[in-house]
Amino acid sequence: MENKPFAKRSLGQNFLQDENTARKIVAALSAGPGDTVLEIGPGRGALTRWLNELNPARLILLELDNDLADQLETRYPNAELHLGDALRFPWESLEGIDRLKLVGNLPYNVASPLMWEIAARLEDFSRAVFMVQYEVGLRLSATAGSRLYGALSVWMQSYMQVRLLFKVPPTVFKPRPKVDSAVLSFIPLEEDLLCPAEKLSELVHVCFQKRRKQLRRIFKDHYPRFSEEEFEAAGVDPQSRPEMLTPKQFQLLAACL
Ligand code: SAM
Repeated sequence: MENKPFAKRSLGQNFLQDENTARKIVAALSAGPGDTVLEIGPGRGALTRWLNELNPARLILLELDNDLADQLETRYPNAELHLGDALRFPWESLEGIDRLKLVGNLPYNVASPLMWEIAARLEDFSRAVFMVQYEVGLRLSATAGSRLYGALSVWMQSYMQVRLLFKVPPTVFKPRPKVDSAVLSFIPLEEDLLCPAEKLSELVHVCFQKRRKQLRRIFKDHYPRFSEEEFEAAGVDPQSRPEMLTPKQFQLLAACL
């Protein structure tokens, strides 16, 4: 785009320069006419250009930086531009939109809390594809037993099937970030959570603050009334450490709190 404003580090602005990577990300969304596509942080339009070419029923753009608004409006007059913070976006308001797909090269400083919020507040969408820091991508997709498995993995995998699709090097961005990135796909699970969301959120935070401790010890400190029978009913060995539990097992324990 012409008259490019300077990239703002505070807004995590690392703009994608490589068409092939942009097209690969957009292809991973499997979107087309009839879909509603919401892009988080369109920036200078590296992905938006290809999304727009798919001719979606609606293209919604959510961008925090006012300085990018004119260019986005001029280039994509049919898109619905929302200027504001994605962390404050009313995700529930999208409920009921048929064939909703989310995509974004997420600003690294807000990617994890943003995905956490979306998982909790938007039940109904068909697919999301997000680019995040590679290490965050590994954490999102880590399975029980792995060193990188933590609260974010359990939370996201309780709501969605998470897949790490491919790695992206710093060289395809301007300015270049210091680390690699990863593109992941997210598909909501059919099954509902087995416990209230707030309980699960609390439990994973409590447990992963003490990931080296055995569950029995953690529960003794935080949930003293939790019984051995409840561990047994959830099929969980109280001697195991938090990182050994599957998302389902966390939900079963949280349901008893
Ligand atoms: N999609 C573009 C690309 O791939 O080149 C830009 C990606 S850049 C990594 C992140 C974008 O998210 C920037 O345009 C930035 O202004 C925007 N952004 C940063 N924080 C945001 C927030 N809280 N809500 C919405 N957009 C945000």
